Amino acid sequence: MRQGRTDYRLQRRGVLRAYREGARSREDVCDAHPDLVRAGIHIGTEVRDDCPICEDHALRQVDYVFERKGRRSTGGRAVPRESLTRQAERFGDLEVYRVEVCVRCHWHHLVESFHLLARGTAVG
Ligand SMILES: [Zn+2]
Repeated sequence: MRQGRTDYRLQRRGVLRAYREGARSREDVCDAHPDLVRAGIHIGTEVRDDCPICEDHALRQVDYVFERKGRRSTGGRAVPRESLTRQAERFGDLEVYRVEVCVRCHWHHLVESFHLLARGTAVG
């Protein structure tokens, strides 16, 4: 069960506007961490939209999960989208951060975040 969704489309639009107006450089907005690019290539979910920067069909979404109970010192883990439900069943409530990344030009931005509650998740 999902709860508490935060949408980052407005911020994304702001970054893209700043880029088009020349206020932010391409190097500045296309600086995805190598781990994120790798996750995009190997476990990323393909999205229909093309990259807003290089306009190539190389945009992927990567889901990072953080466990909500106990220590938050461990960083998020990138997990395949199809295993999200299983992760919640196994580790309890999770915070999910969905990030888009272009595996060609390395543009990246947070898309949305939400809580994934272990109870109420469908089996399978
Ligand atoms: Zn791109």
